[in-house]
Amino acid sequence: MSGNKSRVQAIYEITNRKPMTVNSPQSLDKIWACDVFNIAKMEDALSKNAFKAVKKTVQTGTPLDKATADIVAAAMKEWAISKGVKFFSHIFYPMTNVTAEKHDGFIITNSDGRAITEFTGSLLIKGEPDGSSFPNGSIRMTNAARGYTAWDPTSPAYIMHTDNGATLMIPSVFMSWTGEALDKKIPLLRSNDAMNKAAQKVLSLMGETKIAPLNSSCGAEQEYFLVDANFANARPDLLLAGRTLFGAAPAKGQEFDDHYFGAIPERVQVFMQDFEDKLYRLGIPAKTHHNEVAPGQFEIAPYFEAANVASDHQQLLMALLKSTAKAHGFLCLLHEKPFAGINGSGKHVNWSVGNSTQGNLLDPGSTPHDNLNFLLFCGAVIRGVHQFGPLLRAAIASSGNDHRLCANEAPPAILSVYLGDQLEKVFMDIKEGNLTKSQEGGVMDLGLSQILNFKRDPGDRNRTSPFAFTGNRFEFRAVGSAQSVSGPLITMNTMLADSLEWIAAKLGAELDKGVDQAEAVINVLKELINEHGNVVFGGDGYSSDWHLMAIEERGLKNIPTTADALPVLRDESVKALFKNTGVLSPVELESRYEVYSEQYILSIEVEAKLVIDIAKTKIYPAAINYFSNLAEACSKMTEMNVEPDNSITKTIADEATAMISAVKKLSEAMKKHDFSSTDEHMQYCANDIRGLMDEVRSHADALEVEVADEQWPLAKYHEMLFIK
Ligand code: ADP
Ligand code: MG
Repeated sequence: MSGNKSRVQAIYEITNRKPMTVNSPQSLDKIWACDVFNIAKMEDALSKNAFKAVKKTVQTGTPLDKATADIVAAAMKEWAISKGVKFFSHIFYPMTNVTAEKHDGFIITNSDGRAITEFTGSLLIKGEPDGSSFPNGSIRMTNAARGYTAWDPTSPAYIMHTDNGATLMIPSVFMSWTGEALDKKIPLLRSNDAMNKAAQKVLSLMGETKIAPLNSSCGAEQEYFLVDANFANARPDLLLAGRTLFGAAPAKGQEFDDHYFGAIPERVQVFMQDFEDKLYRLGIPAKTHHNEVAPGQFEIAPYFEAANVASDHQQLLMALLKSTAKAHGFLCLLHEKPFAGINGSGKHVNWSVGNSTQGNLLDPGSTPHDNLNFLLFCGAVIRGVHQFGPLLRAAIASSGNDHRLCANEAPPAILSVYLGDQLEKVFMDIKEGNLTKSQEGGVMDLGLSQILNFKRDPGDRNRTSPFAFTGNRFEFRAVGSAQSVSGPLITMNTMLADSLEWIAAKLGAELDKGVDQAEAVINVLKELINEHGNVVFGGDGYSSDWHLMAIEERGLKNIPTTADALPVLRDESVKALFKNTGVLSPVELESRYEVYSEQYILSIEVEAKLVIDIAKTKIYPAAINYFSNLAEACSKMTEMNVEPDNSITKTIADEATAMISAVKKLSEAMKKHDFSSTDEHMQYCANDIRGLMDEVRSHADALEVEVADEQWPLAKYHEMLFIK
């Protein structure tokens, strides 16, 4: 079937699409976490002592002894088998954004040939998936070619169902045999530890006596597009690159804003309900869903959880979005910019830190003492973003996100912090010395009545900021929709750890001098905001004025592409940050630079090859066919003494020829291999290759609006974006 025929056929079929019938939804209490071996199920299945040991491990991460591990493994196996499970798999998160699994049967055969099931503590705790084909930077070269997985008991095991059966999934870390992190989970756990240690110091100095371990929390809002599978299947760019590499702007885009929070199409609603039932079974607290700004774009936001669990759940959520969409006849696009000229997709990572004794430290609180704790932690975040803005930019660098950041609908590639008017004023008052006087000798008021009744005002939210305070948490909005949340969480926890260490040292010194506690806090914050207040910005982050001001007056960095951002991972200050906090050794950090830059280069090269292929084998033939039709018609007109209008024929000839010559240039450019460094190679991809891809596209898109509609081989924007 030729391309254009399949497109027309797709349109025909789609008009008759019906929502898929799904099993009638079950009540939430029936399905909630029914496929998760969580604390409650362990309590039911284990002896008192075994449960006590495992609970301690879950809550504090202390290793499990072998005997208890055997008991837990046996209980886990029994529970899983009772639910029809035959396989188990350690699931882990390599340095790419993917999720990796290796499945094993519970089955072994004994000496008399009978099959029995086996699952011991050591199988639970440690697996050896090898996985030697995962990119791991140079770590594998210098060590042995094996990677190990180890159960992360802080993230519960769960069952995944497919048509062919069920598998017990065991969330795991992935490391080299010498213990280097090869994944995104180990540094996340370490960053949490580093943050906890530093936070304990600050809270002790603040006179807190009972301080439970601190944990970071994350609630991630996920944006995505749905495209009918019929269209997607006829577009190799969507299937292989996750975004359209060609496509003229539609007559109706998002200008009317009628999609945002509008009625959800029925097919999509059925999909969402089915998807959310799956999330509930896995104990993922899906909370809100709605239409997003662009047509065909939607959002799902689960309730926040401990960062480590939230991060595992986020990976699972992305995988389930894709598989469920497929079952409903959609392709789910997680790409940051699937359609040029239409709003892209991000992932807002809501982040806070707290514990069971002091609560959420990013909540302003309602007593002067809580206010002080809050101001210290909030100040620590401000310092972190200022000190490590370029690192935060590197943590969200990907070829997809390059298209979205700075695109005047998404946060700019300049990292600044939005505090809201009220809180910004408090910090500016501290800076200007307006909060130093103790009032009437009593408890220092600090003028903090300003924030005592701090309310989150939805109207007060600055959507143009990449990093915003939203009442009791920070929201990192520049994260890409396809990215793992681990990288941003690791970076935020680590920069916070560094800032809290800095604060602890300064605060300790002030208190040693005999300065009163509240005054000591204000002194430290004054120094902090003097040095780092430049990163606080409440204005329009999209405006060109800000771009100028940020760089020229504030000394902030604008880092437009991944090629510019990733080299930051090699900065001495960044190496020192990760080394001193114990989050990543220099070798581990370097391996990350290597893996991420390789991924970047590869994804641009794949796109470039697709551009060449689609232009040559789909677009050019369509253009030339139509040109022949027109040319023939024109010559018939001439035979009949009608003067033909050759302008369209000529435009098509010109654009098709120009496109093919751009394709040739791109093919030539792809042959270059002699780069003196990876940085140079990345820059070449970001600028030369992408520039030439755009050149090919501009001619192709010009052809799209000239060639007869029924002869055009690729589904058009207006067809894909409006779901029926
Ligand atoms: P909005 O679209 O207004 O930003 P949503 O309700 O869609 O808000 O998403 C907000 C996200 O922030 C949710 O995942 C929510 O659970 C999460 N969140 C709320 N409070 C906290 C907190 N203290 N720490 C981390 N995440 C939080
Ligand atoms: Mg949000």
